[in-house]
Amino acid sequence: MNFKGKNNPFYGKHHSKKTKIKMSETKKELYRTGRLVHPMKGKHHSEVSKRKLSKSIKKNIESIELNTKRINEWNRKHGVEKRNEKNPMWKGDKVTYRCLHQWVVRNKPKGISCAKCGSNKPLEIANISGEYKRDINDYKWLCRKCHMMEDKRMSNLKQYQKKTNDNVK
Ligand SMILES: [Zn+2]
Repeated sequence: MNFKGKNNPFYGKHHSKKTKIKMSETKKELYRTGRLVHPMKGKHHSEVSKRKLSKSIKKNIESIELNTKRINEWNRKHGVEKRNEKNPMWKGDKVTYRCLHQWVVRNKPKGISCAKCGSNKPLEIANISGEYKRDINDYKWLCRKCHMMEDKRMSNLKQYQKKTNDNVK
């Protein structure tokens, strides 16, 4: 038997495979040029992807809401919200206070001794009025010990004032 050429049993198969590839290439070309519309192309496909997209957005929003809820809960537990509302130092944002503090430290000449006890080295700037004014006369240099005592006295005073106010009401 002669297996060369058309007499080869694989001759036709090989040829048809080549033809298939060629046909699919032609189809691809038609899709590309828009002469043939792909069944997946169009409304159906875009709706599916839209639904998928909105689902992932919804999931994101849900996780953000959950996080905010958790943070708020944590803040409530640790008294962060209360501190923000009631302490004048936390009025508005922390940055403003920090800037003010730095400004006072830069502009208020540091004495050689504590403004209160006079014996220790002044290390910390203390607010006098409790209003944190942008005025260097509203601040004094204290040693760490006196500053701590002063802060304690201030908070006691505030608590005392709050109690008297509540009694008046
Ligand atoms: Zn002191």
